Amino acid sequence: MKEEIFQFIKLQAIDSQIAGFDNAIAKHQAVIAGREQAIAEKLETIAAFRGKVDLLNQKQRETKIEHDDAGARVKDRQNKMMQVQTSREHQALLKEIEENKRLVKETEDRILQFIEQIEQLEEEATTLENLCAGEQQLLAQEIENVDKEIKRVEVSKKSVVSQRDIAASELRAADLKRYTLLINKRDGLAVVPIIDSVCQGCYMALPPQQVIEVRRADKLNICPTCQRILYYKEPEAVAVDK
Ligand SMILES: [Zn+2]
Repeated sequence: MKEEIFQFIKLQAIDSQIAGFDNAIAKHQAVIAGREQAIAEKLETIAAFRGKVDLLNQKQRETKIEHDDAGARVKDRQNKMMQVQTSREHQALLKEIEENKRLVKETEDRILQFIEQIEQLEEEATTLENLCAGEQQLLAQEIENVDKEIKRVEVSKKSVVSQRDIAASELRAADLKRYTLLINKRDGLAVVPIIDSVCQGCYMALPPQQVIEVRRADKLNICPTCQRILYYKEPEAVAVDK
């Protein structure tokens, strides 16, 4: 049985190494995805700013028409003043002139506010655009680096995967089946050491009799709690094979 235990340990070590490569690749990809997301959010904000600017420009144009119309009405009523006969007509025209002058002033203020808002939004959009352009440039560089790094990891992984094929073929079919089930069910960890009578898979203490059996290694020992395959490891060799 001792030889079989070694085969299990070897296969677990290889699978842990492969999982490590996969994790490293996933981490790199997550970093890139996160940065892409941040840029996409900024681009959305910029588009929203630009949309608001369009709307404000439209409002500004409409207000300008209102403004010009009111101005024209002031001139028109002022001209009419020369022709009116009665004081009542005179008063009515004066009132209209006052109202339109107020409108001229009021629309002018609104136009100035629009201009101010537009300038501010455009400034914010431009700042964000510059920021985005910088981030996109850095990201392109980062993607290039990450692609290289991932390729490097994949090369290492490939050689380990071929080792795995050999190691797996060395196990008996029934053992490989048991191992594969465990690996899938137990988060990639099927074979674990016991250190100080504790299973390093689930961290439960084992009965003394089983510790002796694991140490003897003349039969396959399974953790009663997590069903992982156990092997003995001297307490001083604390580095856990994970
Ligand atoms: Zn356990």
